[in-house]
Amino acid sequence: MNTETHTDQSTGQPTHVVVLGSGYAGVHACRKLINKQNLSEDLKVTLISDVDHMLYVTMIYEVPAGNLAPSSIRQPIRTMFTADNVHFQKGTATEINTQNQTVHYKTDGRAEDLDSTQELAVSYDYLVSAIGSETEFFGTPGAAEHAYRLKDLNQAKRLKNTLIHNFERANLETDKEKIKELLSFVVVGGGPTGVTLTAKLANLLNHELADSFPDLIDYAGITILEAKDTVVDRAGLWFSNKVAESLAAMDRVSIQTGCCVDRVRPDGVVYNDGEELRSECVIWTAGVKAREIDFANEDVVKKHEHSQRIHVTPKLHLPEDQRVYVAGDQAWVERIDADQPYPMRAQFAVRQGQHAAENILADIRGRGKQNFYWNDKGIVISVGHGQTYAEVFGIKMSGLPATIAYKSIYLMSTIGVRNKFRAMLEWFMNMFLPRDISEL
Ligand SMILES: Cc1cc2nc3c(=O)[nH]c(=O)nc-3n(C[C@H](O)[C@H](O)[C@H](O)COP(=O)(O)OP(=O)(O)OC[C@H]3O[C@@H](n4cnc5c(N)ncnc54)[C@H](O)[C@@H]3O)c2cc1C
Repeated sequence: MNTETHTDQSTGQPTHVVVLGSGYAGVHACRKLINKQNLSEDLKVTLISDVDHMLYVTMIYEVPAGNLAPSSIRQPIRTMFTADNVHFQKGTATEINTQNQTVHYKTDGRAEDLDSTQELAVSYDYLVSAIGSETEFFGTPGAAEHAYRLKDLNQAKRLKNTLIHNFERANLETDKEKIKELLSFVVVGGGPTGVTLTAKLANLLNHELADSFPDLIDYAGITILEAKDTVVDRAGLWFSNKVAESLAAMDRVSIQTGCCVDRVRPDGVVYNDGEELRSECVIWTAGVKAREIDFANEDVVKKHEHSQRIHVTPKLHLPEDQRVYVAGDQAWVERIDADQPYPMRAQFAVRQGQHAAENILADIRGRGKQNFYWNDKGIVISVGHGQTYAEVFGIKMSGLPATIAYKSIYLMSTIGVRNKFRAMLEWFMNMFLPRDISEL
């Protein structure tokens, strides 16, 4: 099926754009659709998301590390979009039917009143699907059941609570082996997420937790398990060496490279040679895959075999349906200048969300749609105070300039003024006052 596109202005009905997901791609698609120049009475936007906020995922480590409160890295959707032609619906999209142009979704029943869950459908003229990605365990037995992950705020809070709770439990323990098991933390995956998380948690261990539990701290440690020969290998040799040096210099951090996790148990991991590493807190950062959504007519979508990302044309719509766009981590977009897809990173998600919206607006106005192209602006990896490494616009930097770049990028990428001030204030206070080591 190759659908023809047309504007609906002739019918007198506003063109209805439905956007799925309130992450980087979804929110920026909505903002582009309703910004001042594009604001028109013949456009209606419905944003459906399973959470009522936008989460700045790139700062999520700051929550378990006690650096920022959860409210500093999320922004409520309802106060973000106040225009009359934008409607927000909290719900989980379950199925897209491209034939009758509808999306099916479930509203959340409150935990104590599950029967209030409703199954609803909304029809669209254009759809932007931007539901992001989730943790990929590569079929490792026990990982989905026992490992902690770090993709949303509930997971971040759960991780912080476990960290603190394990210290409290260890405080009541007399068995030294058990104390060690409780205070040994294992991070599976030495990519940017794994190393950043390790460094931030180690900082908390070495300061506030060491001060609060002086008799226990010698039992505590964090081990990174990486299958490759080096950490952050995809970022290049310069990053790998710098990050590995910084982590090696950190107290209570160890790195094991070239090791494969065979399975995860409630009390630790088992390597593929049968060796065990005991830990009651294994955190999985080793992979991500696109979140899945059903298509009523599966033949309109082609997914990448391993990542489950949906193949789209360079204009970001499905090859077989020009009304359905996919953006962000969920989309497999081939670069037009190289034989590879755009990576699953925030800057690409933001730009793809905006680009999908621009192409929808172009289509509505009868103009030509453009191919997506975005040059990587760089990468920043922060592994502690003064230990930030960045490559921005091709310029490599470390130390203070990189730390300033790291924090500025976050502050510039947040939409609300409140978040910016909260984050700046909290970072400032952390320089002089102990961080929050209470459970969330
Ligand atoms: C710990 C961590 C650190 C990272 N650090 C960096 C970094 O430093 N730099 C960088 O560039 N990238 C980083 N990334 C990657 C970056 O966060 C992602 O590329 C980016 O979030 C993708 O944006 P998105 O809009 O596609 O998806 P998301 O931001 O994941 O948003 C998806 C949205 O869809 C919602 N949703 C999910 N399922 C449904 C459904 N069925 N129905 C309705 N709504 C749904 C979700 O609640 C969410 O609001 C990091 C990722 C992680 C996990």
